[in-house]
Amino acid sequence: AQVLPLPPTTRVFTVANQKGGVGKTTTTVNLAAALAASGARVLVIDLDPQGNASTALGVEHRAETPSVYDVIINDEPMAGVVQRSPEFETLYCAPATIHLAGAEIELVSLVAREQRLHTALEKYLEESAEPFHYVFIDCPPSLGLLTINAFVAATEVLIPIQCEYYALEGLSQLLSNISLIERHLNPNLAVSTILMTMYDSRTNLANQVVADVREHFPREVLDALIPRSVRISEAPSYGQSVISYDMNSTGALSYREAAAEIAHRGVQH
Ligand code: ADP
Ligand code: MG
Repeated sequence: AQVLPLPPTTRVFTVANQKGGVGKTTTTVNLAAALAASGARVLVIDLDPQGNASTALGVEHRAETPSVYDVIINDEPMAGVVQRSPEFETLYCAPATIHLAGAEIELVSLVAREQRLHTALEKYLEESAEPFHYVFIDCPPSLGLLTINAFVAATEVLIPIQCEYYALEGLSQLLSNISLIERHLNPNLAVSTILMTMYDSRTNLANQVVADVREHFPREVLDALIPRSVRISEAPSYGQSVISYDMNSTGALSYREAAAEIAHRGVQH
């Protein structure tokens, strides 16, 4: 396994893009696995009622399973819902269940509705016997209260962008929402990382989109490009990341490269 520097304090990433199908969950799971494979302690928080990250990490998330819903809505401690992923010794997941679908509405009438995840996560990280190096929060494809909770709990935003024609549509709305959060709810939040996903080097369009995004966000875009790959899309049906499912595939290689860049950049900042 590759050796990567560990951050001195926990880095909390929100993986967000209000578009569906751009690679948020795939990126969350595979970066988390790549970092865990290198020895980091990593927690994935599944904030999408679909529970795709929970499925991909092979953790239980039936309706009765204690989940992020209980943490956010019922003030249950996060320690009671976190499960270890069978894949790696140091990879953990707070699963989502179908109940989370109602949370968006239930949150509206709760006290401190934007800070609930932040409060629970802080407490969990403080009380953990061993420190976590990374937390990745997988967001639903919307800019509602669940995603706002993720932004308030994080210090870094990672935006996956699909290498397609409409890729940049909606990005300015996402960025202006993030700056609103920064001004009013979380002054520590910054878009630190942009990752280009589903890249197909054979198309001019993909290359054009990558060039455009690099021009606009030269500091944030990672050098690593995630290729469109069947192995990446197959892995979740085996309850595995592509890092374990096919460690020598181009998909696994590209996510390991992205993880290495994230680990090295963090140390430089
Ligand atoms: P989101 O969480 O943003 O909705 P997903 O990560 O679930 O997006 O990805 C959407 C679909 O695309 C899934 O079926 C996933 O397996 C597939 N997918 C994601 N990344 C890749 C890739 N690099 N190559 C091929 N398929 C991918
Ligand atoms: Mg998803």
